[in-house]
Amino acid sequence: MSTATSHKLEFVRTLPTDAVRQIQWNFADRYDLQMLVQSARAVARGPVARLVADGGRNSHEWTEAKAELLDAFDRAGITGVFMDPEEGGFLVGPKNLALALVAFELAWVDGGAATASLAGCLALAPIHERGTHEQKERYMRLASPPQPGEDRKPWRGAFCLTEPIPYVGVDTGMLDGKLRVADWTPGKEPLLQVEKRGRFITNIGFANFVTAAVDSADERIKGSCMVILEEGDPGIFDRGTATKKMVHQLSSTGDPVFQLGIPASRIVGGYDIQQGVIVPRYSHSEVIEAVFRRTRVTVGVMTAAKLLSAVEPIIRYQRARFRGAATATPGSVRYEMGLQAREDALHRLVDVWATGEASASLGFHAARVFDELDPLEREIDELVSQRGVRGARAKAKLFRQVSEEAAELVLLPKDDPKRARLKSDPLCRFLLLDSVADVLCPAAKLWNTGWGTHMMREAVSLMGGYGITEDCPGFLGNKWMDAQLEATYEGPEAVQRRQLSVTMCQPLFLAQFRSWIREMRAIASDHPGTGACTLATAMTLWLWTLDRLTHAKDAEGAKLYQSARQGVTFPLADALCWLLAVRCQILDVLELERRGGQDPSVAEGLAGFLNFFGDLCHVQSARASGEAARILAELVFGYNRHPAWDEAGYQGCFRIDELDELEGFVPGISACATDVIGPDGAHPPKAGPCAKCNGAEQFLLLHNKLDTCLTGARLAKDRAAEALAKIMIPEVLDYPA
Ligand SMILES: Cc1cc2nc3c(=O)[nH]c(=O)nc-3n(C[C@H](O)[C@H](O)[C@H](O)COP(=O)(O)OP(=O)(O)OC[C@H]3O[C@@H](n4cnc5c(N)ncnc54)[C@H](O)[C@@H]3O)c2cc1C
Repeated sequence: MSTATSHKLEFVRTLPTDAVRQIQWNFADRYDLQMLVQSARAVARGPVARLVADGGRNSHEWTEAKAELLDAFDRAGITGVFMDPEEGGFLVGPKNLALALVAFELAWVDGGAATASLAGCLALAPIHERGTHEQKERYMRLASPPQPGEDRKPWRGAFCLTEPIPYVGVDTGMLDGKLRVADWTPGKEPLLQVEKRGRFITNIGFANFVTAAVDSADERIKGSCMVILEEGDPGIFDRGTATKKMVHQLSSTGDPVFQLGIPASRIVGGYDIQQGVIVPRYSHSEVIEAVFRRTRVTVGVMTAAKLLSAVEPIIRYQRARFRGAATATPGSVRYEMGLQAREDALHRLVDVWATGEASASLGFHAARVFDELDPLEREIDELVSQRGVRGARAKAKLFRQVSEEAAELVLLPKDDPKRARLKSDPLCRFLLLDSVADVLCPAAKLWNTGWGTHMMREAVSLMGGYGITEDCPGFLGNKWMDAQLEATYEGPEAVQRRQLSVTMCQPLFLAQFRSWIREMRAIASDHPGTGACTLATAMTLWLWTLDRLTHAKDAEGAKLYQSARQGVTFPLADALCWLLAVRCQILDVLELERRGGQDPSVAEGLAGFLNFFGDLCHVQSARASGEAARILAELVFGYNRHPAWDEAGYQGCFRIDELDELEGFVPGISACATDVIGPDGAHPPKAGPCAKCNGAEQFLLLHNKLDTCLTGARLAKDRAAEALAKIMIPEVLDYPA
């Protein structure tokens, strides 16, 4: 990394080792997670890879061979990651990072295998987040892997929200699943009848229980809720036909039909009886919100794994491309470097790698934020009840007050003694972190999967025709298609953009975003080669644009920043995601610099890693800033009407005779005037008089500055490309093709 005491000349020698990743992604102190990574990797590069190589993806059906993967997950401890030790798991504390790491390892080889494992957690998540004590006890234990010597098959679960068209899809409110009272003897627990049809439900081929979203179709039940269905419940538990998907074939997906009788105690989170009406404690959307908030991060990490997994097979392909040809003799450039003698091949791979780094950093950063948030959330629940704050309104009022104060505190200088309050007050800490989590989760899901899919295409293209065959090492073609599913399920891009368009405007998030700009400038001052300064300028440009759009109107006088105006809010959310991802990437490289020297296995090649990763940050920062600037310029100017050659347009133009006169006072003015109207009203052949910047002068200044901030970015790319051509890779890929 370019620092004052630069390690400049050293190139990266090998692909990043586990020890490097552990430091970058902040789990160097977590031996339990390191072990988990190893066991998940053994399953991914062993049974999962073999099944893919043997054509396991060529069938839609849930087969014996696919089912064996579930047993492999159990044995490797993957199934137990979701549970606490007292529920049959083995990890103490929050599990977001752990689940993200497992997903990363499995998706490195096959996204469907990762999904099969994650879908079980998704089924349990409503119970984990909002379930009653009894529900947690029952289902966590049933779903936990058998302990040594225990002869028991763990229960598998499915999460059923999506319904056949025209009901639930992106719009999760359009529920057709129904809940009615079947029998309610006074003084006894009500019995309920569930009617629910699902569409594209993962794990349905083998699930023993299902958490399903339903709405009341009975005046004795209030609103919607989620219910737990079991395969032994009286009625119909029809798994439906397998979905003919072109992706993730190692997971089971189908359109089930349920018509089941269940006790009311299966309502997730329980219920109260109020004036003869069953009132679920949580609506289905409240449960879903709590669940997806965490699980979407893991999906984002899956696509990051695909990009990073593509690097090694591509390098190997590029280097060996011409070996065996008569003209490519050992020692010749063709033989030794193959396609890597070509700049474009290297530059494109640098882009794939840089995107993979940024998306992994964003995803793992988000997972760590949720790990920090989980215990805080519980602490705050207790604190709020101790303070006697009752009801959602009173709680929201308290949070509002504290957030305003916290937003002010964030912007005080670092050494201001008042800032200590931020760290010591759990409510402040919680609100700060919560506002960041509200942005990072949709950002990781949106950017990693959406842009990641584009970049997977790029990765596939680097393998030429091989890339789109089943024989492609690293299964890159599969991964490209699979990435599109990751961009779709658990809410496609529109859902993430919609959420971001609200959460990214919250004052508490914006206060922290402003402090991140300062943070990036400070980093740039010590590490000028990371692109942190460019990023800080792009972040400033984004803030300026948000402010402008929230106050400005379009040519028709309509408000620009409003929820119905997705053409404004959604691109602005996209621009933000680019910037957030690089920020996380830069922070991770700094972490490696800070702690790398403490681990002898990392210390040896540390300078090379720092130089290379620093250059990747610079490359990515230039790309991200450029993308953001392109989007922002279109938003700032795109809603103004372009002047026409009409009366209003002529007002801003010079007339030729007027210009002649002016020339006497201001020599040379005619050379600067672009819009000159002739005596007969003739005008230059173009769309209209040039548009003015209408109060956006500061934007133009910043945009201009950003362009010059790109200075050096291509040099970084050249250096990264040179390093890529020298990096050592193993002789063969460690999983079959
Ligand atoms: C293999 C697979 C596995 C799945 N597993 C599960 C599962 O286990 N459980 C489950 O419940 N579901 C599951 N799903 C369903 C998945 O979550 C949905 O397909 C997804 O949420 C999109 O819904 P949809 O297909 O109805 O798309 P639609 O809602 O029809 O969306 C189509 C397009 O319109 C856009 N759009 C829709 N509404 C808006 C809007 N308001 N504003 C702007 N744009 C909009 C969308 O972004 C999208 O581009 C799975 C799907 C697949 C393919």
